[in-house]
Amino acid sequence: MKLASRMSRLGTETAFEVLAKARALEAQGREIVHLEIGEPDFDTPSHVIEAGVKALRSGKTHYTPSAGTPEMRKVVADYISETRRINVTPDMVVVVPGGKPIIFYTMTALLEEGDEAIYPNPGYPIYESMINFTGAKAVPYRLRMENDFRFDPDELRSLVTPRTKLIVINSPANPTGGVLSMSDMEAIAEICLKNDIMVLADEIYSRIIYEGEHVSITAIPGMQEKTILLDGHSKTYAMTGWRLGYGVMPVELAEQVTRLQTNAVSCNAAFTLEAGREAILGPQDDVYKMVEAFRKRRDVIVDGLNDIPGFKCLKPKGAFYAFPNIEGTGMTSKQMADYLLNEAGVAVLSGTSFGAYGEGFLRLSYANSIENLEKALKNIRAAVEKL
Ligand code: PLP
Repeated sequence: MKLASRMSRLGTETAFEVLAKARALEAQGREIVHLEIGEPDFDTPSHVIEAGVKALRSGKTHYTPSAGTPEMRKVVADYISETRRINVTPDMVVVVPGGKPIIFYTMTALLEEGDEAIYPNPGYPIYESMINFTGAKAVPYRLRMENDFRFDPDELRSLVTPRTKLIVINSPANPTGGVLSMSDMEAIAEICLKNDIMVLADEIYSRIIYEGEHVSITAIPGMQEKTILLDGHSKTYAMTGWRLGYGVMPVELAEQVTRLQTNAVSCNAAFTLEAGREAILGPQDDVYKMVEAFRKRRDVIVDGLNDIPGFKCLKPKGAFYAFPNIEGTGMTSKQMADYLLNEAGVAVLSGTSFGAYGEGFLRLSYANSIENLEKALKNIRAAVEKL
């Protein structure tokens, strides 16, 4: 088959490959602790499930408008207005199946050959994959452990050229757990306003934060007009399998993104939109409980990792990933990830799954019980001590 050449530029996410390898070992009778997949292990709150079931029973089984129902767009507009302290109207909101399509649609709408887009590395792999897919040049900015996994403003400035069209930011971040401050946002805003650059602000972990408040670049004067804000229900409400997310962006771009959605998937599932509305409007207790549970697990995993010879781990400020440096073990990230799966029965991801600058690191998702985390730490320690 002769595929279109653009397909050779499209990357992927390795978490699903590692999951498949781990499942194959389980099929042979091995016990594996799963720390590879990035999703809350909690159930969707029951009142949200009830809203979805009620919607199905009351006939919400038909097509919906491509950008989401007016009711859902209004709920999202009000929620983002309140949490980011900006003024969002429903026509700026496009509701999509998960946060991911916002990356696909906005990059497709904005980028082409000759453009450059700057993205975090180590970072969520879909940014690099999608920039390459559009034909634009993917320019990484390095996130360093010494810098708390925040970017260096001078380095970022040095990457900007007259061709730079987009800068991607992700806070709280996957895979590092790093969180950007208002002064970080101001530095990016200054670069973008001066050079007429758009920002894709991936705020999917906005509610999973352990210290201080989430800050959004959209709150800086002049930046809402230049920003695509991505958020959604997957992480906040433990709704990964429902596929529900959204983007908030200038109306002109929202219309184009809606057209892409019409071409790709038509619309969101009707009952999902009803459940998603209830998630935002209903009680938030489950969100707070989940974040408190993640905080306890974070402390267990970080302390345990720092006790393993050759491992060094910062305390993540948000999301639910630990990103230890393992250079002290003398192994590469990929070797260590394979070794831990086979030797310790613990599935983790190599830092290089998140870009070349992830070499020397592993990503462990702590969206798992304290009992499993302790088991994983014990097994990792024993395996590393054998080296
Ligand atoms: N952005 C980041 C940084 C993520 O980590 C993820 C999921 O892991 C997504 C976007 C996509 O989320 P969704 O499952 O809602 O498409």
